[in-house]
Amino acid sequence: MRIVNLAGRLALLTGDGAVDVSHGGFDADPDAVFGQWEALLRWSAAVDPATAVPYKDSDLRAPVPEPRQIFAVALNYRPHTTEAGHEEPAEPLVFTKFPSCLAGPYDTIDLPPGHVDWELEMVAVIGRDAYRVPEEDGWGPVVALTVGQDLSERTVQLAGRPAQFSLGKSFPGFGPVGPALVSVDEPADRDDLELTCELNGETVQHDRTSNMIFPVPRLVAHLSAICPLRPGDLIFTGTPAGVGNRRTPQRFIGTGDTLVSRIGDLGEMRHTFRSAR
Ligand code: ZN
Repeated sequence: MRIVNLAGRLALLTGDGAVDVSHGGFDADPDAVFGQWEALLRWSAAVDPATAVPYKDSDLRAPVPEPRQIFAVALNYRPHTTEAGHEEPAEPLVFTKFPSCLAGPYDTIDLPPGHVDWELEMVAVIGRDAYRVPEEDGWGPVVALTVGQDLSERTVQLAGRPAQFSLGKSFPGFGPVGPALVSVDEPADRDDLELTCELNGETVQHDRTSNMIFPVPRLVAHLSAICPLRPGDLIFTGTPAGVGNRRTPQRFIGTGDTLVSRIGDLGEMRHTFRSAR
């Protein structure tokens, strides 16, 4: 099942277009998606594709508009840990992106002053309350996966001693997610998805989620040991190697650039950038 936020209403994607969930008798408020998730799954398996209508990518918004918590994980792929000059962590390294940074999958994003960098990441979407989840049950509260960009302004991110990541990663638009909530039963292998990030057509990041140091169940166990997880919470699971600030020479996102973020069966986002006024 692929559920999108289409101009503020929940819709099911079929091969041919989108079906407003009200056709199935559901509440089309995007905040209502998790309370009716299981019923939506049943309906989606039987929906008539002839009821689908075309839609514009530009009408897609963040599929979870108001998560209460956004967790993000640093240094979760070995080559990225190496390029960043760190040892492999023994436990997940967690920071937050504040929810006001969320953006849609095809938005134009304002560039603040400084050095804005890309970080393609798979995002795990929590669909039910979860607290102290054992690792072997770690997929349990995750109902969907989506594509995310942990956009980062490196000057703010790395200014402090020690560095405090969260603000430099929370400018408006710095947390684009989408295009769809893809139910975890949809990918052929939810533990092994291909990640590809392209800047102006050039591949800058390419890896597979099976190479995470701490896979999704471990992250859910680690986070839920401390924070009760709530429906709609997002976990940015870490970025592969190839970010701009670890390149020689360094490279950052500029006005007019196009960033494509693609993950296996989850779909792709496309963002353009302009100077913040
Ligand atoms: Zn990141």
